Amino acid sequence: MIEQQKDLTSLTTFHVPSIAEHYCKVTSVEEARSVIEFARKNNLSLKILGGGSNILLTKDVNSLVLHTCIDGMKTEVNTSTTLLTVNAGVEWHSLVSYCVENSLGGIENLALIPGFVGAAPIQNIGAYGVEIADVLEYVTVLDLSTLEIYTLSNTECKFGYRDSIFKSSLLGKVLILSVTLRLTNSHHSINYSYKDVALELELHSISNPSIADIFTSVVSVRKRKLPDPNVLGNAGSFFKNPVISKTLLEKIQSNFPTIPSYKFDDENVKVAAAFLIENVGMKGYKMNDVGTHIHQPLVLVNYGNGTGKEVLEVANTIIEKVQTTFGISLQTEVNIW
Ligand code: FAD
Ligand code: NAP
Repeated sequence: MIEQQKDLTSLTTFHVPSIAEHYCKVTSVEEARSVIEFARKNNLSLKILGGGSNILLTKDVNSLVLHTCIDGMKTEVNTSTTLLTVNAGVEWHSLVSYCVENSLGGIENLALIPGFVGAAPIQNIGAYGVEIADVLEYVTVLDLSTLEIYTLSNTECKFGYRDSIFKSSLLGKVLILSVTLRLTNSHHSINYSYKDVALELELHSISNPSIADIFTSVVSVRKRKLPDPNVLGNAGSFFKNPVISKTLLEKIQSNFPTIPSYKFDDENVKVAAAFLIENVGMKGYKMNDVGTHIHQPLVLVNYGNGTGKEVLEVANTIIEKVQTTFGISLQTEVNIW
């Protein structure tokens, strides 16, 4: 059923107010098709919503919001791997929990990322050294113009650092219906290259971690470090961690010798956006009821009565200051509506 003047406040994790002119929750491919046809016949633009954990609503939405809630999952067990086809409306973290409980390896480092499975390939979700691209076989999509269903292989998704074809040439053109992952049944590849996870394992005297140990460690580090969106409105990292040339890094190091940097490729390094924001004096910054998180300034927060416009204002101030001080142009990771 298509609803009019739908309040979206509780449907994104920033919890900022916004009204959608039209809204429909869809639970099957058939429903999705008929909503898309309705939008076309009535000349309405479409916006796709998943778990709302990577969207900032800065105004009312003058479109038809299609809320993708298609549930369900299929498994195909082979000798050493299992192919899991998971529908777009499944909660990402419940999928990760299911995999760990069933000894399927590959996404345990991606525990506690909010949102739905359908959005995961869009920014190639990643954490603690693992990205969905590492395990993804293909994505099944519905073309919003032709209503045809087709698949894109991992290569065709053109995954990059928090990037994919869904953010460029396919932006606004497809509805992701499901993702198919290839996970290991045994002999899992265990990754605890990130300091926080390694320290958490050490704290519990775990020297040979299982996927369940990685899962538990990631969950406990994230619970400690990141604000829970149910308590404090936020959409995770507001900006991407910038990739800059080694030459620019050397220039910055002359004034900021402690800047953390990580190899990206032969010419470039990735630097921590949180360091840049902290060093332009914006850590814990507050304007009205919005600001940057007191411990993790890369996360912009709504203390309760903030608006999307105010969050955007803070984001723009950060962009300006970081550009002036470091010569780096921060790119937003969150989708601005
Ligand atoms: P939404 O916010 O609903 O949508 C995001 C974008 O995808 C929108 O442009 C929307 O139109 C589009 N979209 C959604 N579903 C579909 C679909 N089925 N088909 C086509 N387009 C679609 N991200 C990381 O990568 N790593 C992290 O570690 C991480 N940690 C986070 C921690 C917190 C506390 C929070 C709040 C966010 C974090 N995020 C992280 C960001 C976010 O959770 C992910 O990007 C997540 O995949 C977004 O899913 P969603 O369903 O909420 O998408
Ligand atoms: P962190 O571990 O303190 O790391 C800070 C930055 O340094 C991150 O950008 C990370 O890059 C990079 N980094 C750290 N160790 C690295 C290593 N061994 N190799 C390569 N790069 C390294 O960051 P955090 O804020 O606590 O977050 C932990 C993880 O969760 C990170 O992977 C982060 O991306 C992810 N996360 C993402 C979001 C989001 O909304 N996108 C929100 C919270 C956490 P990467 O970003 O490439 O990992």
